[in-house]
Amino acid sequence: MKLGALEAGGTKMVCAVGDETGRIFDRKVIPTADPETTIPAIVNYFMDKDLDALGIACFGPIQLDHHAPDYGHITTTPKLAWRNFDMVGAFAHTLGCPIGFDTDVNGAVLGEVTFGQARGKKSVVYLTVGTGIGGGVCIEGKLLHGMLHPEMGHVLLRRNPGDTYAGHCPYHQDCLEGLACGPAIEERWGAKGDALANRPEVWELEADYLAQALTSYILTLSPDMIILGGGVMHQTQLFPLVRKKVAELLAGYIQTPQLEDLDHYIVPASLNEDQGILGCLELACRALVEQ
Ligand code: ADP
Ligand code: ZN
Repeated sequence: MKLGALEAGGTKMVCAVGDETGRIFDRKVIPTADPETTIPAIVNYFMDKDLDALGIACFGPIQLDHHAPDYGHITTTPKLAWRNFDMVGAFAHTLGCPIGFDTDVNGAVLGEVTFGQARGKKSVVYLTVGTGIGGGVCIEGKLLHGMLHPEMGHVLLRRNPGDTYAGHCPYHQDCLEGLACGPAIEERWGAKGDALANRPEVWELEADYLAQALTSYILTLSPDMIILGGGVMHQTQLFPLVRKKVAELLAGYIQTPQLEDLDHYIVPASLNEDQGILGCLELACRALVEQ
């Protein structure tokens, strides 16, 4: 099979051609400008590739309900040029192949479940901590959608008593994303995250907020594995801090083999940053099978 993959992000569009075994033959990165310039460049890349199907993992929020009139659209995104843009339509009309479509983070979790460390796991959460915070969930091989799709970055937390930073989320101020995304770290501490590597208080606080959110996901979704990705998680000192705080917050209430071995339960992404693009190949594969 010749499958196309499009990881559609707010700053760049990663396009690739591969197959159902996760081999990637070719790729191209196109900067995300407005749809009028970006979409023709992507179509142009895929046009002569003779694809059997295309999988798209897209920034959101997006419409995933196949029965909705706006299925396949990007909906209420703050990126105004892309608001209400018909992403699936743009490629279905020009490439004429089946299109798989899901959120960027569902793409990432699907990549890890299909080709990475989460193979064989029943319930997996992937959380990206970057410019924003978002989570994807795969349960028994199926990506969790529900009424829309999970928006796990916007869960509400207990604020750390010493933290006077107002929060970065335009909707909720001090939700998880508001308190712990990359731009929130930068605003609170006055420097970009990578320049704060030697400030333990920065990562103690960050780990506190991430651990609160992970504890809620553990209690609601009962994942077998939680994968943390995104630029902020390049601060690998966060992992032991988050694990310790999750254990404290759970306070022994749940006892499972997974929670006994937190080093293998709360883990970094495993596919050299290719989890998203590999997830797109699997989305394409599934779209072809469903057709
Ligand atoms: P995006 O979320 O836009 O796809 P990233 O996942 O790379 O992109 O996240 C970008 C955010 O992560 C920025 O706020 C940046 O400051 C932060 N970031 C990137 N690298 C690091 C690092 N090494 N340490 C801490 N923060 C980082
Ligand atoms: Zn929010």
